[in-house]
Amino acid sequence: MTFSLTVLGAATPYPAPDAACSGYLLRAGAARVWVDAGFGTFANLQRHMNPAELDAIWISHLHLDHSHDLQTAFYGLAYGGLGLEAPIPVYGPPGWVAKYFGEHAGHFTDVTEVFEMHEIAEDWSGRVGDLRLSVCRVEHSQPAYGLRAEYEGRVLVYSGDTAPCESLVELAAGADLFVCEADFDTPEQRTEYILHSTPEEAAQMASDAGVKKLMVTHVAYSLGIEAATARAAAAFGGPTISARDNETHEI
Ligand SMILES: [Zn+2]
Repeated sequence: MTFSLTVLGAATPYPAPDAACSGYLLRAGAARVWVDAGFGTFANLQRHMNPAELDAIWISHLHLDHSHDLQTAFYGLAYGGLGLEAPIPVYGPPGWVAKYFGEHAGHFTDVTEVFEMHEIAEDWSGRVGDLRLSVCRVEHSQPAYGLRAEYEGRVLVYSGDTAPCESLVELAAGADLFVCEADFDTPEQRTEYILHSTPEEAAQMASDAGVKKLMVTHVAYSLGIEAATARAAAAFGGPTISARDNETHEI
């Protein structure tokens, strides 16, 4: 049975023509999970499936370039005639409902008609069909999580947004595919509020975790995905690829 990752977007901090922000479609057998809902990813998701048929949505953290299209999806699913039959389970960081669907959001439809609400924490794990999901807390400026997805002995790990951190290395142990952000050109760009990794730091985490393949994602426009991937590949020394919109990778 298939276990694949389709990139719905990898740009940050804003979408460009043909470049959506963070989002992925994870398919494992019959299960389909939308991982991160950055700007533009709801549109790209429709290239691959009817969003009403999603089995779950998982959100790494509440920065807009990873979560804004929860609102877009709500409009589509509530008002767009997509044929939603039952609320879709959403697993998001604490506060996602209040942020997007609180009393001032102005939505006419109750969010519970569209989304089944779940909040994740450091010890969260879940199951969607035969896909097993678990998380770790990563180093970002607000509660943010990395994701490990396991299906029939194969493993995908996604960093979300993070500075280099040991919890992510542990989560990524032995992964077949490690999707890791490489937003920064240099570590000196890190501040108390802006925490990301460089290509070399992504590669170091990949090496430390013993992953089989590294996918570089979430790269600043000023750095560029080609340059970031080349730097990560040189430092990792193993198979290294770029996240490109609408490309599907078997895990
Ligand atoms: Zn972020």
